[in-house]
Amino acid sequence: MLIVQKYGGTSVANVERIKAVAERVVRTAKEGHKVVVIVSAMSGETDKLINLAHQISSNPSEREMDILLSSGERVTTALTAMAIEALGHKALALTGWQAGIITDAVHTKAKIEKIEGGRVLNALDNGYIVVIAGFQGITETEGEITTLGRGGSDLSAVAIAAALKSDLCEIYTDVDGVYTTDPNIVPEARKMDKISYEEMLEMASLGAKVLQTRSVEFAMKYGVPVVVKSSFSDNEGTLVTKEDEDMEKVIVSGITYDKNQAKITLIGLPDKPGIAAKLFTDIANASIVVDMIVQNVSSDGKSADISFTVAKTDLQKAFRLTENIAKELQAKEVTSRDDISKISIVGVGMRTHSGVAAQMFNALANHGINILMISTSEIKVSCVIESKYTELSVRVLHDTFGLAG
Ligand code: ASP
Ligand code: MG
Repeated sequence: MLIVQKYGGTSVANVERIKAVAERVVRTAKEGHKVVVIVSAMSGETDKLINLAHQISSNPSEREMDILLSSGERVTTALTAMAIEALGHKALALTGWQAGIITDAVHTKAKIEKIEGGRVLNALDNGYIVVIAGFQGITETEGEITTLGRGGSDLSAVAIAAALKSDLCEIYTDVDGVYTTDPNIVPEARKMDKISYEEMLEMASLGAKVLQTRSVEFAMKYGVPVVVKSSFSDNEGTLVTKEDEDMEKVIVSGITYDKNQAKITLIGLPDKPGIAAKLFTDIANASIVVDMIVQNVSSDGKSADISFTVAKTDLQKAFRLTENIAKELQAKEVTSRDDISKISIVGVGMRTHSGVAAQMFNALANHGINILMISTSEIKVSCVIESKYTELSVRVLHDTFGLAG
């Protein structure tokens, strides 16, 4: 088999761990597989580099930022290849551009356009273990160095696995798989054997930090089987794959929460066409991502209230902007609160089962937890609640849907 193994920052955090990675890689090769290794920078390294840049300038050029940030992965790539060679196996370290990872020119959040895998495949045929720097690429015409956005080495791994038509993409991290919820809140949370791409996508974007969201989208698009597992144990891990019948039998697969939430409400807006369009165009132009939106029309039909949520980190900016728009639109009042969380249930089984949302609302109500906002998709129900109830809600819902092992 051709196997891509990606090791995250904690797995290559120091020399001892890099040696342990090399041992696992060589073991895999000795089992008769061709192995391509993708590494992150040592944990904390990318943050450290960003911090250095900000000590020099409050607004460093993004092109130079990419040259700086890509250095973290060069270090671990070279060291990992050396560690493999020290174990007596041939190894070749490649930067993103040497590995043919071609991206667009959007510095610090580039998109992979294609991968020219010839050199990597050649080295594999010649018996090398190929170690590639994650998170980085190069533009095709100008040869500019780019990076793929935070957490981007997951995407590097999945994209390389797809391009090389690898049989498996293993993501090694510091947890041994994807859990039904955060085990820090619910100790009985269970590691899942497998999860569908779509569920993983919801879980990833809802804040379960095991896999970068874009990498899951990519894996789904190209059908790359991904396994999330720990580099500190030999436990089985969780397979992220196409949906199957077994998965549909489970109505709710996981519970996630997001504490980085804040809510803005505009009261007494005129109820006429173009109001929401104006409000959300201005907010989008300020690059603020809006999550949930709820609109209500007053009983006399003359005015409307709109509430929406943004990341807590965007609240100040969004609030100032909303106040300005509110004046223009002649709204009565603007309010905000940031003591809220979003809690969600996710499962492909929801497509074929009814009453799941009601069950969620009942469970919360039975514990006196008030729901402030609700949103749903085909495989997810999310509720905004007061943040002091976050942990309680997670426990209650994990219980209600029978997720414990
Ligand atoms: N080193 C990069 C980061 O910290 C990429 C990664 O680790 O995936 O975001
Ligand atoms: Mg990561």
